[in-house]
Order: sequence, then C-alpha cells, then structure tokens
Amino acid sequence: IELKSEDLRAVCELGQGNGGTVSKVLHVPTGKTMARKLVLIDAKPAVRKQILRELQIMHDCRSEYIISFFGAFVADPHICICMECADKGSFDQIYKRIGAIDVDVVAQVALAVLEGLTYLYDAHRIIHRDIKPSNILFNSAGQIKLCDFGVSGELINSIADTFVGTSTYMSPERIQGAQYTVKSDVWSLGITLIELALGRFPFSDDDSERDSDFSEDESDPDADIAHYIANGLSSASSVDTERSFASRDSRDSEESFGEGTLSPRRAPIALPPPTISISSASTASHADTDSTTTPGTSRGAPKLSAPNANSSAAAKKNRRKSRGVSLQGGGMTMSILELLQHIVNEPAPTLPAGRYGAAAQDFVAKCLEKRPEDRPSPKELLGEPWMRSARDDGYDLVAWAETIP
Ligand code: ATP
Ligand code: MG
Repeated sequence: IELKSEDLRAVCELGQGNGGTVSKVLHVPTGKTMARKLVLIDAKPAVRKQILRELQIMHDCRSEYIISFFGAFVADPHICICMECADKGSFDQIYKRIGAIDVDVVAQVALAVLEGLTYLYDAHRIIHRDIKPSNILFNSAGQIKLCDFGVSGELINSIADTFVGTSTYMSPERIQGAQYTVKSDVWSLGITLIELALGRFPFSDDDSERDSDFSEDESDPDADIAHYIANGLSSASSVDTERSFASRDSRDSEESFGEGTLSPRRAPIALPPPTISISSASTASHADTDSTTTPGTSRGAPKLSAPNANSSAAAKKNRRKSRGVSLQGGGMTMSILELLQHIVNEPAPTLPAGRYGAAAQDFVAKCLEKRPEDRPSPKELLGEPWMRSARDDGYDLVAWAETIP
C-alpha cells in the first residue's frame, strides 16, 4: 500500500521525543491503526530522498521482536514514518504508570530485546544504537518489540542537528568516542533492565539533594566550557543548554525545570567539575573545534561545538537553575558531565543484592562490563542461565498486560 498524508486520520498522541511526535492514526483506506512518527528534518530534498531509500530496509525487518514498518514518506518539513502501533506503549510509560517492574517480566524484556538485537544483526547487520525503555514497546497480545533502530545513516545525521538529549544510556566506550558496536547496545540494555527493575533511572535518586548548595560565581571561567560541552553533548549547538536537557514535558516551561522525579532527560546542567576529562578525544579536540556537527558522527556522541553568542548568559542561567543528579544510594550530587565521567570512571551500577536472584544480578553485571571486550554479545547473552530460565519458564505476558491501565 502507498501511504499518503491525506489517508491518515489522527486518533491521539502517543508521545513526544526529541526528534518528533508520535501519534496513533487510522489509515482510512485499509482501516488499519498505525503509529505515525513525524520527524523534523533539516535536509535538502536529495538527502530526504536518500533517507527514504535507507528506511526501506525496514520493510525487510520481519520479526516478532521488531515493530513492523508500513512505510515512510516526506511530509515537508517532516519525514513521516508509519509503523505498527503498540497499544500498551513503551516500557518507560509502563513503569511510570505502575512502578518498578517485576523481575520475571524484566527477564522477558531482556529476552525479547536480545532476540530482536540478534535478529537485526544476523539478518541485516543492523546495530540498534538507541536501546532504552522508550524504544521497547509492549502490546496487549503480550509481545515485546523494539523500535527506532538506526537503519538510516542520513537520518541519524539529519536528526543530530536538532537532537536534544542526554544520551545517558551511552556506554563508556561511546562516551570516549569509540565506534558503535553491538556491544554498546548490550550496555544500554543493562542500564535499561536496572531502570525497569528499580522503577527509576539507576544513576539518579534522592530529590532532597537537588536544591543543595550551588555557588553562584558569575565570573567562573569554567562556565563557558560547561556550555560548550553541554551543547556538544546534546549535538545541538544552536539550542540553549537549558532546553537541551529539559524533559519533553518541561521543555516549554522553564518553571517546571528541575521539579519532580529526576530522570536523565531532566538532569540539568551544572558547572563542570574543576577538571574535565570525559574523554581525551573530546578534550583534545576542544581547541580546534568550531564546527557544529561532524558529518557521520552518530547521534548523541559527545562532541564539542562553538558557543552561542550569549553563552555566558546561558551558563549563568544554568548555574542558577542547576541541580545535580543524585547518585544511587550515595547521596552524592552530580552534573551531567560528572555523570558521564562517572559512567567512564566508576564501577557500573548493579541490581541491588537481596531483592533479585543471583542469575539476574550476574546477567546485568555481564551487560555492564566496562570494557566492550569483556562484555558478551547479544547472542552469547541468550545462553546465560537467566535467559534460559526465562525462556523455559515463560511468563503470562497477556495476563500481565491486562494489569496495565
Ligand atoms: P527519543 O526522542 O529521545 O528517542 P523517545 O523514544 O521517547 O525519545 P519517540 O521515539 O519520538 O521518542 O517516541 C515518543 C513516544 O511515543 C515513546 O516514548 C513511546 O511511548 C511512543 N511510541 C513511539 N512509537 C510507538 C509505537 N509504534 N506504538 C506505540 N507508542 C509508540
Ligand atoms: Mg523512540
């Protein structure tokens, strides 16, 4: 079927991300319900055509663990991507609705994600690149499916220009500028699984710390550096830092910034720690970097970019509004930069002992091996004891779906 804008009738909004808006739509000629993602693209017609060509690979991605693709077309200034609609939404929405997710369900999520990743890689040599709870969908038939994988290099490049986000599912090697491999997806899966099991992002916690002492030193030379790096991390040199890191629901309201539960998206910018050494690659390139985006650099990679004209004003504002992200348990407050440093330099998060079985803890620890060489591939992880019992024991996900409003 040939999809056209006129044939799609909007039913309701399903959610908003940094790249665009997703709505439930009815395809009138066929009576089929679809999820329509509108991605704002700042690209020339030739590039748009290229993106559409690249997206066609998704027609061939057929797996019970992958959201089906119905088609894509240009709807200026957007690219419109039509896909299967998951009626129970994404796992971030689910845990925000019902709280921490039962570890047996988390095991089924892990199994489905690994099956999906293995399929994408073995059948199409596709690396997902964006594993996180919002890209793992669920439906009332009890199916768990992946969406939003990186099939189009051109799309990744085009979105990078407008991308705002914190990329906190990024593996240590990615933060340090290494190439993406399927092992980076495994790290992101590890963080995701802990997030689902705890019902919160594993690196953030303890809101009480957030309003704590924040010195307001107007002449701090680090402020500008903070601004460059923050913009670089968001790959959004023209977007002011505050917006870059605001969550989708707070992005239009400065006042709501920093309120509510901290999530990686909400994590505000603070001044950098005195020594910035997220990665030698980025610090080294700082001096000679004055471009905005590097072509071919994938979305979310830490990059440094030129300051805005009002960088010191923005930095000052950030400082005033800044609240750190509290580390799990420790009561330690940290900025986004510190968070990235933390991911690189500190031990990985774990599933807290006691509440979870040894097999689950062991599995997550393997996903979160700091060195990609030590981290198993998705296929290897499918042979882990936790995954074998998840497969053998099964779980009534249809019944579980009924418990989700
Ligand atoms: P980011 O932009 O940082 O990747 P995101 O994944 O939340 O974040 P989108 O991919 O734009 O952003 O999706 C927005 C929301 O829409 C998702 O969080 C999800 O809840 C919902 N959604 C996306 N695709 C579907 C789908 N096929 N079926 C049902 N809901 C969907
Ligand atoms: Mg998504």
